[in-house]
Amino acid sequence: MNNRASSYAETFEQRYAISAEGPLTDFLSRRDGRLLLGDAIDLNAMVARYGAPLEVVYCPQITTQIEQMQAWAAQAAADVGYRGAFVYAYATKANFAEEVVRTALAAGAHYETSAAADVVIAHQLWRQGILPGDRWMFCNGSKDADYRAAMIALRCAGYERLVPVVDDLDELAELIASCPAPLLLGVRERHAPEVVDPQHPGAERFGLTADEMRMAVRMVAGTPHRIVLYHAMVGSQLEDAAAWQRRLTQSLDGLLTLQREAPTLTMFNIGGGMPTSAYRVDFAFDYPAFLTRVFALVAQGCDEAGVAHPALVGEFGRYTVASHSVFLLEVGAVKAGQAAESWYLMNASLMVNMPDMLFVAGQEFVVLPLDDWDAPAAPVRLGGRATCDSDDFYPRPGQSALWLPESTGGLVLAVFGVGAYQQMISGRGGAHHCLTPDMRRIIIERDDDALVVREVPPQSLGRIMEALGYTRETLEPLMPAVPAAEPVERLPRTPRRAQSLFRPRVGGELRNRRARI
Ligand SMILES: *Cc1c(COP(=O)(O)O)cnc(C)c1O
Repeated sequence: MNNRASSYAETFEQRYAISAEGPLTDFLSRRDGRLLLGDAIDLNAMVARYGAPLEVVYCPQITTQIEQMQAWAAQAAADVGYRGAFVYAYATKANFAEEVVRTALAAGAHYETSAAADVVIAHQLWRQGILPGDRWMFCNGSKDADYRAAMIALRCAGYERLVPVVDDLDELAELIASCPAPLLLGVRERHAPEVVDPQHPGAERFGLTADEMRMAVRMVAGTPHRIVLYHAMVGSQLEDAAAWQRRLTQSLDGLLTLQREAPTLTMFNIGGGMPTSAYRVDFAFDYPAFLTRVFALVAQGCDEAGVAHPALVGEFGRYTVASHSVFLLEVGAVKAGQAAESWYLMNASLMVNMPDMLFVAGQEFVVLPLDDWDAPAAPVRLGGRATCDSDDFYPRPGQSALWLPESTGGLVLAVFGVGAYQQMISGRGGAHHCLTPDMRRIIIERDDDALVVREVPPQSLGRIMEALGYTRETLEPLMPAVPAAEPVERLPRTPRRAQSLFRPRVGGELRNRRARI
């Protein structure tokens, strides 16, 4: 009889019914025992070169996401004879990083904003020519005076395709009264009380009731402004395609009813919610089938009402960016559990780097080992060693333990699905919980057919303490030496070519691996 414990690779293969070599998800693969992001970036080589903790940011994955969705939508529209346009907007609040927004725009994305600063960034990108003036800009959320002023400034500077999506009638009155240039406006549908989930009522505050929408139409009549867009956002990470589709069918009714009073309404915006594949290895969502059904239901409703097919707008946050970045974290120490699983104490904080694990019920992240797939698998929990906070652990209560290779320390784990919201909610720079520094970031972008790599060193302790009001000059001599913790601005500005950066320092083995990059 064979009592040998299953290896990690066997456990993985049994759990997901896929091979431990080859493609693991649509953005992640394992080849020759190495984990590859976007089937291109060798994460094992990254850790060998830069150490852990490390964030690897692979911008070409964003391009892939956008191009894939555009292609599916084009096919779906052709299949059902949909005659309106498909407008892919990037919801920048998912990740505002300059390289992320620039990559999404270069891939053809339109723009969705959530706050005043967002519009200010867009204004600058437009002046720089990075945001072309023919892209739509949908401005959502409740609009305070700063947000309204930023929109009006951009509109009056000549940006015509700016669409404030009205969230209440007071902001509409303010916009009508204060914007001298004609505005294209949207109206956001408020969730009916019967569809609000009492466990998660947060989105109830957004939007206008049907009565308020009719009022908005009357307020705009006789002004130079026009209502062009109906916004019907259902939620985020919507994996139940049938339920989503039912909600959209109801919203389409709302649009068609309102359109009788506002014939200028020619855009149907379904908001965010497109799920990302990045949170679970066994994720399944049939994107082409979903798009086909949505185009079909909108076409059918409009054909029956005898009106033209509207442009179909989606605002893609998570879907665009969740998969493009990964954290590589090292098991610093192992502590046996007394009754339950062992603790893998990570040289990092989980709650600081993946804050959604604390407040999004059931939020999962894919955690895979870089090495030791042949070692026996064991159930473990990860603890964030960088804080001494009893809430700094993953998986959370109610989630099953992680199975990982047995280790006495030194194993590096890759945490996927962290490219959307996590950095923004955690914040970049400044002081984090227990003064956890921002980890080193490696940013990889495509430049024609080359990959260009840029390194942002970890946050220095001096910077953190300065943010809290301590005097850096007197503290710095007291600090332990932290390798390569130079301030960002002292870095060479010119990005280096991937080829030279990954020139092997040792024999031929690595040369081949790194040539992949
Ligand atoms: C946050 C947000 C989005 C993006 O949602 P995802 O589910 O991340 O795609 C889109 N539209 C609006 C109005 C939002 O508030």
